[in-house]
Amino acid sequence: MFDIWVFVQQRDEEIEDATYGLVTEARRLMAQLGDAGQVTAVALGPAPESVLAALGAYGVHRVLHVADARMTRYQGEIFGRALFDLVQKENPACLLMAQSSETEDLAQRVAAMMKTALVTRAMDFSMAADGTARAIRPVANGYLFEDVALDIRPSPIVLFLPSVLFETEPDREEAATVINIPLPDPYDDLKTRTVQVIEAAPEDLDLEEADIIVAGGRGVGKGDSFDVIHALARAIGGSVGGTRPIIDWGELPYERQIGQTGKYVSPRLIINCGISGANEYTAGMEKSQQVIAIDLNPRARMFRFADLGVVGDVREILPLLISRIEDQK
Ligand SMILES: Cc1cc2nc3c(=O)[nH]c(=O)nc-3n(C[C@H](O)[C@H](O)[C@H](O)COP(=O)(O)OP(=O)(O)OC[C@H]3O[C@@H](n4cnc5c(N)ncnc54)[C@H](O)[C@@H]3O)c2cc1C
Repeated sequence: MFDIWVFVQQRDEEIEDATYGLVTEARRLMAQLGDAGQVTAVALGPAPESVLAALGAYGVHRVLHVADARMTRYQGEIFGRALFDLVQKENPACLLMAQSSETEDLAQRVAAMMKTALVTRAMDFSMAADGTARAIRPVANGYLFEDVALDIRPSPIVLFLPSVLFETEPDREEAATVINIPLPDPYDDLKTRTVQVIEAAPEDLDLEEADIIVAGGRGVGKGDSFDVIHALARAIGGSVGGTRPIIDWGELPYERQIGQTGKYVSPRLIINCGISGANEYTAGMEKSQQVIAIDLNPRARMFRFADLGVVGDVREILPLLISRIEDQK
C-alpha cells in the first residue's frame, strides 16, 4: 500500500493554501498508482486538532502531528530531526512539500540525514507502479527545464513551486485521524540555538512574509533608475521585489524574483511599477489582497489584476508619490 505524505504548511495556526494544493497532487499520484494507498499529512508545531482533522474533507486519511513547546518557531535542527524520525519509521512512498524558505531548509536537512533524493522547485512529479519516479523543474531561471529521474528508495522528497499547486474543493465529509506524536528524544545535544530574534527592516523582509511589496519591472529601468523602487519601499515600509528581467540585470538577487519561477507572495498590498503582467509573473502575486499597477501602456495585462491602475511614466509618478508620502509624514 502506498503512503503519500504531504507536509502541512501553517502560519498563525492556520493551514496555508499550498497545503491543499499538495493534497491535490498527492491524490493525483495516488490515482497514478491505482488508488492503492492513503494520503498522510505531517504537521510540525502547535496547531488546533480540529483544523488538522478538517484536512479529511480534502482526502487526507491521517495526520501525524508533532507538537512541542520548543516548536512554536521554526528551528531547523529540531524540525529536521522530528521529521527525519517519522519518515525513517514509516517509510512513505514520497514526501511532498511546497517550496518556501523554511521547507527548503527543512527538506535539505532531512534529505541529507536520509541520504535520499531531493527535488526542489518541482513543476510536475509522477510515480509509476513499476517503481520509477520523474520530476520536471525549471533551471537557469526558467529558461530551461530539467527532466529528473529519481531513486524511490529511501522515500524521495519533492518540493513543489507553490505557483503550480491548485487546491480543490473539499469533496467528502470525513475527518482525518490526528495522531499526536511526542518529540522523539530530549534534544539536549543541539548544535544550534536561537539566542535572539531580530526583526528585519521592512525593505529586507522575506517577500513571503511581507505585508507590503513594491515591485519593479523592466519599465523602471536599471541602475540609478531602479533606486526609486527602493525609495518608495522605504517610504511606505515595504519589501522590494521584481520581475525576471530585473533579476537578470542583477538589480535584485534571485530571492527577490516574484513569479512562477520565483517567489509566491500574498501581501496586503503590492505596487507593481513598469510591469506588463505576463502570466509567469502574475502567477506569483495574484493572491495579493490589494494591487496597484503603474504602467505607460493602458493595455498592459497587469491592469486586469489591479484594484487601482495608474497609466503614466514611473519616472514622473514615483518621485511625486514619494514626496507626497514624505509630506504626509
Ligand atoms: C518558463 C518561464 C518562467 C518565467 N518565470 C518568471 C517569473 O518567475 N517571474 C517573472 O517576472 N517573469 C518570469 N518569466 C518571464 C515573463 O514571461 C516576462 O517576460 C516578464 O515577467 C516580463 O517582465 P516585465 O513585466 O518587467 O517586462 P516587460 O514585459 O518588458 O514589461 C515592461 C512594462 O513596463 C512598461 N513601461 C516601460 N517604460 C515605462 C515607464 N517609463 N513607466 C511606466 N511603465 C513603463 C511597459 O509598458 C511594459 O508594460 C518567465 C518566463 C518563462 C518562459
